Amino acid sequence: MLREWNVPFRALLDAAPDGIVVCDGQGTVVLVNSEAERMFGYARDELLGQSIELLVPEHVRPRHHHHLASYAAEPKLRPMGSNLDLRGRHKDGSEFPVEISLSPFTAERGTLIIAGIRDVTDRRQLEREKKRATAYLLSAVEAVQEAFLLFDENDRVMMVNSAARALMGPVGDAPITGRTFEDLLRASIAAGTYELGGETVERWQARRLAYHQNPSGVLDLRTRAGRSIRITERRTADHGTVTMIADITDDVERAEELRRARQQAEAASEAKSEFLSSMSHELRTPLNAILGFAQLLERDRKQPLSERQLERLSHVLRGGEHLLRLIDDVLDLSRIESGRISVSSEPVEIASVLAEAIHTLEPMASRAGIRIVPPDVPLGTPPVIADRTRLAQILMNLGSNAIKYGKTDGHVAFRTEIGSSSVRITVIDNGIGIPEDKRDRIFDPFQRAGQEAGPIEGTGIGLTISKRLAEIMRGTVGFRSQVGQGSEFWIELPAHLDQATNEPSTAGSAAVPSRLATGERRHTIVYVEDNPSNIAFMRELVEELPSVELLTAPTAEIGLELIRGRLPNVVIMDINLPGISGFEAVKRLREWPETRDIPVIGLSAAALARDTARAQNAGFHRYLTKPVKVDELTETLERLLEVR
Ligand code: ADP
Repeated sequence: MLREWNVPFRALLDAAPDGIVVCDGQGTVVLVNSEAERMFGYARDELLGQSIELLVPEHVRPRHHHHLASYAAEPKLRPMGSNLDLRGRHKDGSEFPVEISLSPFTAERGTLIIAGIRDVTDRRQLEREKKRATAYLLSAVEAVQEAFLLFDENDRVMMVNSAARALMGPVGDAPITGRTFEDLLRASIAAGTYELGGETVERWQARRLAYHQNPSGVLDLRTRAGRSIRITERRTADHGTVTMIADITDDVERAEELRRARQQAEAASEAKSEFLSSMSHELRTPLNAILGFAQLLERDRKQPLSERQLERLSHVLRGGEHLLRLIDDVLDLSRIESGRISVSSEPVEIASVLAEAIHTLEPMASRAGIRIVPPDVPLGTPPVIADRTRLAQILMNLGSNAIKYGKTDGHVAFRTEIGSSSVRITVIDNGIGIPEDKRDRIFDPFQRAGQEAGPIEGTGIGLTISKRLAEIMRGTVGFRSQVGQGSEFWIELPAHLDQATNEPSTAGSAAVPSRLATGERRHTIVYVEDNPSNIAFMRELVEELPSVELLTAPTAEIGLELIRGRLPNVVIMDINLPGISGFEAVKRLREWPETRDIPVIGLSAAALARDTARAQNAGFHRYLTKPVKVDELTETLERLLEVR
């Protein structure tokens, strides 16, 4: 059986964790425990028989007196002055926060009031700190420019800054804190805050909700006020959501401005390219006649020219070729600058591309009295990854500079070195070298490093083009030079490391008399061309090829009739014709069964890369640009006519 313990009453009272003070209806203290003594700093004897108001701060004593009287009249158990910031008064005069519960006790001599008193200094301190932390957080959230909302795990707003309030617009009278995301979203939509951009309200809302429920990345929206906003939401560790909304209107406008500027720049560059293309067309057409006839005169076997005449003619040819190079270089550079050039990289054998470049450079070198040392490509040199034509172009540019700026009786050599993942080809000369103060701008366009007024022909863009081309092919160029001693220019390209071969260099085949020049007439060519001097040039060219009969037509319309009537072996077609264009004419030829297989050579002054691509798509067999190189055209004809 449970028996009540017999514990001494006084000891029990003193062991209680709260202070206990008992007073009578008049407020005279009749009992205190140890905790109360400790809390208020009085010894028991100092309190017993004194007024309870000794323990109350002076400024509340009048009120306290009144409360005590009314409590004594109608006593019951209750916390004292709930919601009030109650304070006790220590013996030393200091005050401290307390919580007090009151209960009445009816004794023989009357009603006693028992006060349980707890010192809450620590708790108040904690509460104050918590409040301060929250205030800090709120002011931090307020200080961020972006709209900020924090939702709890039930998707209700816990925290919101004024930027977010402003952005949401009027969302009803109820305070935002405590409302759910969806509720606020609906209210904002109803208030017309957002620009739905043609979407239905349902779809737009579904999209916004979907992002909120599963946020990843960002969500860009627009407001009716014309602002672009970027929403970033993230889940918090305790299943809430943080929403940040940034105004990105300025960024969007700037991006739009940039886009417009880029578009304009592209249009301008396109116009420049277009202009250069048509200018080059205009310049090439008369050059075509000049160079074409000069070449025919030079080769005329029936009426060979005298030495003097040949000498003069060579000036015409050289001048014409220089002009042509200039046109081509400017065109090339503008194409590279506008990013329109396409390179097709493949493994290229260095020996063979060197042989090709040297073969082309040889006549120039012998004219200048310079010896080209036969290249020695080390065994095991891997091919390089490059566009063969462009690599040859670079080597020819470096090589021709080495010859141009060389000394009579000098030499030019090509050295190949294998790196760990690249191959370097160096063009070495023992020529005039480059003055030190001119070296840093040598690769800039139109910089001729002191040669501007000199006798050596040049445009100052060869090295610019070489450098840009090398970079497009993921390569580099560089040089070193010593005035009076010579220069070394190199290009380094990535090696193709899968296979290492070393083909012996094959020099290009020497010109042999055309097979078309022998035998009786057995081929027919229709040449569609409106320019009389081009027609005259072609007639003279074909005159040297007795196996070929040439028929000409001044327009594509007449040409098509002629081709269907005579079914020639080859058609040569100018592109820019007065009526329908050469492109259109080829299209029609490809549609008729009887003309479908006749090879057509396109001939045009337009030398933009994209024209060549277009011509291939249009169905041309070959596409040659004017000025026509006699050898190239003869070779093409020979291949088409003699093989068939
Ligand atoms: P250019 O058409 O004038 O030769 P480049 O761009 O090819 O134009 O070369 C720019 C300039 O660099 C030349 O004008 C010349 O002064 C100098 N240069 C280039 N290669 C050599 C070289 N091998 N030796 C001496 N000078 C050179």
